[in-house]
Amino acid sequence: MHKHNSALGLATALRPVLPVTLLRPHAATRAARFFVEKFPGRSIYAVKANPSPDLLRLLWDSGITHYDVASIAEVRLVSRTLPDAVMCFMHPVKAEEAIHSAYFQHGVRTFSLDTIEELEKIQRATNDAEDLTLCVRLRVSSDHSKLSLASKFGVDARDAAPLLMAARQAADALGICFHVGSQAMSPAAYIQAMARVRAAIVEAGVTVDVVDVGGGFPSIYPGMEPPPLEAYFGAIHDAFESLPVSYSAELWCEPGRALSAEYASVLVRVEKRRGDELYINDGAYGALFDAAHVGWRFPVELVRETASEARDVAFSFYGPTCDDLDHMAGPFLLPADVAAGDYIEIGMLGAYGSAMRTGFNGFHSDETAVVDDEPMASTYLGDEVETPSNVVTL
Ligand SMILES: *Cc1c(COP(=O)(O)O)cnc(C)c1O
Repeated sequence: MHKHNSALGLATALRPVLPVTLLRPHAATRAARFFVEKFPGRSIYAVKANPSPDLLRLLWDSGITHYDVASIAEVRLVSRTLPDAVMCFMHPVKAEEAIHSAYFQHGVRTFSLDTIEELEKIQRATNDAEDLTLCVRLRVSSDHSKLSLASKFGVDARDAAPLLMAARQAADALGICFHVGSQAMSPAAYIQAMARVRAAIVEAGVTVDVVDVGGGFPSIYPGMEPPPLEAYFGAIHDAFESLPVSYSAELWCEPGRALSAEYASVLVRVEKRRGDELYINDGAYGALFDAAHVGWRFPVELVRETASEARDVAFSFYGPTCDDLDHMAGPFLLPADVAAGDYIEIGMLGAYGSAMRTGFNGFHSDETAVVDDEPMASTYLGDEVETPSNVVTL
């Protein structure tokens, strides 16, 4: 793996033909330390956001001991990468074989569920184990979030009582979990979800040992500047303190994006310009799935030895495949004189970026390099505004 000071250092030295993922280990370490030190409970990394073994080891070394896994392949990955890690199987719909193997081969004891059928599956697959932590997933609103997770999973508050009572019977420890949706822009999302948790506990009259507020903690993107994470942690702490749970109850969270977004960016090359459209060498089937399919705006910077003096203009991107859908609308603000042959750094791609890459149409790159400059924006440095797109520092 190469090591460089920055995107510019690498572009100048290597003129890479394929997209290069730029890794910032120090940024991942900083994010993990922040959660370990400031979240008022346990932070469990949601592996799907970025399953890179290097990142898993960095998080482990920074004090993240628990991992949220959603498939047997993620269970195996974490087992082999971090043999002492604790795994929580938080996908509410699992194959019975996956539960069996997670429990008997990999020591997983924590499972989530949102139906009686799934509870029965877990009991069968574990031979009615008596050491389970079972987390009932409540459906909550995604109104404050940029990516909804409200339709697919979760038991409605009005149907939760019988499920909570049945899970209480089967569990050693009973949990309630939810997910407010990804990139939650206000702490109010968690406050409202906690109100549903309270109502569900009161109605079911069960003793709850774990309250898991899930993921959704935001990062900074153009046009999306959330309040500081401390505001989320404070609101969650206060809501948790007022819940009718046992004195020894634990508070958990499952950050994915917040622990991984700042870890990586991608250096791409412009292969062609057509008006305000740039044809670049990464796209919807590579690290830019979210930019194409949900219109996510990632920060961009032109990477040139002599900074452009031109004013910023709004561009859209086409990816390298032959597919019209391989289009990222942006807008991405770049100097007006950007041209074929230029390099662009696309920031904040550590979360849901490289994790989504395919090899469609023969376009794939797993080239990486470590850089030691700061990410384009950081929730952990108190950044409040986007960095200007025409400033490039070596
Ligand atoms: C995706 C997911 C997460 C992580 O969500 P972020 O928005 O990336 O923090 C956490 N928990 C569950 C159950 C998930 O599905």
